[in-house]
Amino acid sequence: MAQSVKGTRDLFGNEIDWFQRIEDTARRTFKRHGYGEIRTPILEEIEVFKRSVGESSDIVHKEMYDFLDKGQRHVAMRPENTAGVVRAMIQHKLLASNDPQLMYYIGPMFRYERMQAGRYRQFWQIGAESFQVATPEAEAESLVMLYDFLQELGLKQLTFSINSVGTPACRPAFYAAFRAFFEAREAAFCEDCHRRVQDNPLRVLDCKVPTCQAALEGHPQLVEHLDDASRAHHARLKEILTVLGLPFEENPRLVRGLDYYTRTAFEVLSADLGAQSALLGGGRYDGLVKQLGGPDVPAFGWSIGLDRLAMLMQRLHGDAPREAPALLIPLGEAATLKALELARAWWALGVSLQLETRGTNLKKALTSANRQGVRRALILGDGELEQGLIAVKDLATGDQESWTWAEVPARLQSRP
Ligand code: AMP
Repeated sequence: MAQSVKGTRDLFGNEIDWFQRIEDTARRTFKRHGYGEIRTPILEEIEVFKRSVGESSDIVHKEMYDFLDKGQRHVAMRPENTAGVVRAMIQHKLLASNDPQLMYYIGPMFRYERMQAGRYRQFWQIGAESFQVATPEAEAESLVMLYDFLQELGLKQLTFSINSVGTPACRPAFYAAFRAFFEAREAAFCEDCHRRVQDNPLRVLDCKVPTCQAALEGHPQLVEHLDDASRAHHARLKEILTVLGLPFEENPRLVRGLDYYTRTAFEVLSADLGAQSALLGGGRYDGLVKQLGGPDVPAFGWSIGLDRLAMLMQRLHGDAPREAPALLIPLGEAATLKALELARAWWALGVSLQLETRGTNLKKALTSANRQGVRRALILGDGELEQGLIAVKDLATGDQESWTWAEVPARLQSRP
């Protein structure tokens, strides 16, 4: 029998319930802040990712689903969505004015990763991107939106872990100091780090190998090499976060897995996930739009993994609240036709109702309703049909009463 492809999975039941809840909360929160949705294609030309995420990043280097299509175009299934959003903003000339552009997206991403709990090859992300925004105040606006979104989901012990990765102009001095530090203890670092220190020393800070993390003890820090404007920017963001009461801590090793960040980089830690695991991350990417062929505009954004967030919600809150709607059970052909007519009118009024259409007998219909967690059965037999009534059975208590058809919508809506 065919199985889903390794690293992919079907979403249904409790998991999709949480996905939907999270997505609804996200859309509601982002709309309040004036963000509009953008949906970009899953397939992009591979250059979009090579030129943005960076060839030295693990995502492009090792994890990309890329292939030649039938027209010999080298395409990739998006491993993240910032690059695609930026490509779209440029293509549709949405950055021609100086007006801020606030966008969010929800959708699947693809990375050929080693399988672990909570790591998939197709996973979902929710993200927000703001363009034409240069100030720490704009970053705070986005972070407040994120914090409120997570709080609305019931996550309480949240901390922003923040760093400044400076601008390309302040990196050479840092790289020189860092390479000197690395060379003095290079035997302690893994093979990948030996490649990384040449390509992009920031990646060494990001290495997950414990011995590399230990060897980094006392490493030169980016924040020591910031230009004055970046230093002031970083200080102002910390000041704003303090005033707003958003908990944060500084993490000099936080560089994120992508090459395009400038100045602010951040992650959100949740005590519910354990001390080391980030719930999500993001940051400022002022050079990216220009790098992809667009105007030189500042930008800030973040993305959160929906799969892990849904898993966390399930662990913290159990099943997402859900109740199967009432079930309308007609008995006999004439009743079934009338039931379709009645249900149609009630659905139009916003009533939630399932219809038993198999023509089974009452006992079988009630057994299957019980199995599906239905609380109330509306039974339409010949007697009810003649009198314009319906028998309403509470499946939990066994109590039964009789309603007129006219009172069904109001009574079902007031007590679902
Ligand atoms: P990144 O784009 O690497 O910064 O990842 C952003 C978020 O996406 C992470 O915090 C994760 O929650 C989620 N994520 C990244 N890769 C995966 C994956 N393979 N499976 C599930 N979630 C992922």
